[in-house]
Amino acid sequence: MIEKNIRNFCIIAHIDHGKSTLADRFLELTKTVAKRDMKDQLLDQMDIERERGITIKLQPVRMNYHFNNQDYELNLIDTPGHVDFTYEVSRSLAAVEGAILLVDATQGVQAQTLANLYLALEQDLTIIPVINKIDLPASQVEKCRGELKNLLGCADEEIILASGKSGQGVEEILQAVVRLVPPPVLKPEAPLRALIFDSVFDEYKGVIAFVRVVDGQIKAGDQVAMFSSRKESEVLEVGMFKPKLSPVASLQSGEIGYVVTGLKEVRECKVGDTIIAALGVAQNQVIPLPGYKEVKPMVFAGIFCRDGSDFPKLRDSIEKLKSNDASLTFEPENSQALGFGFRCGFLGLLHLEIFQERLLREYGLDLVVTTPSVAYKIYLKNRPEPEIIYNPLHWPDPGVINSIEEPVMKLDLVTPKDYLGGVMQLAQEKRGVYLNTEYLAEDLVLVHYQIPLTAILVDFYDKLKSVSSGYASLNYEFFGYQKAEVIKLDILVAEDKVEALSSIVYEDEAFRVGRKICETLKETLPKQQFLVKIQAAIGGKIVASEHLSALRKDVTAKLYGGDWTRRAKLLEKQKKGKKKMMQQGRVEIPPESFLAVLKR
Ligand code: GDP
Ligand code: MG
Repeated sequence: MIEKNIRNFCIIAHIDHGKSTLADRFLELTKTVAKRDMKDQLLDQMDIERERGITIKLQPVRMNYHFNNQDYELNLIDTPGHVDFTYEVSRSLAAVEGAILLVDATQGVQAQTLANLYLALEQDLTIIPVINKIDLPASQVEKCRGELKNLLGCADEEIILASGKSGQGVEEILQAVVRLVPPPVLKPEAPLRALIFDSVFDEYKGVIAFVRVVDGQIKAGDQVAMFSSRKESEVLEVGMFKPKLSPVASLQSGEIGYVVTGLKEVRECKVGDTIIAALGVAQNQVIPLPGYKEVKPMVFAGIFCRDGSDFPKLRDSIEKLKSNDASLTFEPENSQALGFGFRCGFLGLLHLEIFQERLLREYGLDLVVTTPSVAYKIYLKNRPEPEIIYNPLHWPDPGVINSIEEPVMKLDLVTPKDYLGGVMQLAQEKRGVYLNTEYLAEDLVLVHYQIPLTAILVDFYDKLKSVSSGYASLNYEFFGYQKAEVIKLDILVAEDKVEALSSIVYEDEAFRVGRKICETLKETLPKQQFLVKIQAAIGGKIVASEHLSALRKDVTAKLYGGDWTRRAKLLEKQKKGKKKMMQQGRVEIPPESFLAVLKR
């Protein structure tokens, strides 16, 4: 076997700092993609990614690069920049030896710069610091240089200045990759071990695993097994990313490429798992690659169709999306208000947003999405194991609950010093527990908090941007479950409990939230023929209430003059009618009112 000069690397950065654009320049420079086929952010293949300029699914690419009279095989993985996908990022980092750390010269170091850098350092990657977008007049190269030097302890000349727009410095970055990133350690003779850093479902090919071959080699016809899922199959094809899939005879130790697994479901081929040989070597002698973990959905929301007749289409579409997304969960939910739908689980808010947008764009579904919620652990009396509840509909009776725990996140906030006061106040208001502060540079601060996941679900990001004029950034990761004083708040309309409006709230906020919901309902519910009571209740106890006055139809309007007893009789009749309606109880709650409450 001819030994290849391989370099495996990735680009890490805060969102929008220019990863995808820089990757485009690499593709051009190495002539991997002909100029005429080049479109912006080529590696962002989903429409939503290209439009919104975010990277959701990472797309690897192999490039050939000639430098110093040698040929190099460069494997680049463009990682997703968003916090929801930290685990995926960590697995792609485990697949490479080096990382380009990209910092936008106009923004400086931000929260996800740090988070990604720490993930890269955990994998012992060689870091190549780059200040990007230096073509912009607002760039602050010196400030960024100071921040990077503080962070990495590196020298001035190690930091490359570049622009993905003008192309300046791009060649220098590739040369640094060749010079500084160590080649992979090759073990071609060892039993096969390949790290799955992504897996996708293709209609024609089935499940395709994106892999880094660590030991041995893999080729079509090999019998393989996924170590954790224990699924066995025959490899149908292996290949590399150009960036389109192009078959090769085999993938060798040290290389990055894809494996058409012959499996039918992505959940049988999970990110972080190890592909091993199914025959020949005794399976129990192979130790899987480290770092495998099951990612669990953290954020839940009810998804319904605005038009109930779309339900079968919704079901089909969700099943299709699920076939490509091992971390998505869903189960049917039937709401008296919103009809048939699903309660879906997501890794985070962006994941939910992308999902919703894909249902709209790719399947034309107009949806109603309820306020996202989290999964609670509920310890029942006389039961050691907690129940996991993520739907208020399934909340146990308060009488049998012993204690409740909620998911808590480790929150990192990076902000210029001037905005520290406002940022800290926001975190405090949102039940953040302050841990400590670090100075990243003279003017740049990193504050650590522990904060309930529910606190950052709704409008935290927008508020953070507004208290810091857009400069503060955040990163969070799951920390653990902690005791929470929460209760189920019920809503009654005309003394009927409206299940779909129940929510889980902090005990000390129940009063305020209850009043808010009652007010919202009062504003949005159409008046009825009778007076309607709108109440918020905990257990049987009413904590807030509003009255929606009756729509008084003037039944006597047509009478003028004449006998006053006729008038009295009509009014009496109307009163009786109202009473009857009241007893029947049903107040039809229009979807707008539900939305006003559920979207609060
Ligand atoms: P990513 O989120 O890190 O992948 O960032 P993108 O590559 O999608 O870039 C985010 C935005 O910054 C896009 O609007 C790019 O056109 C712009 N951008 C990226 N690199 C540069 C650069 O070097 N100079 C300028 N002026 N803009 C850039
Ligand atoms: Mg991108």
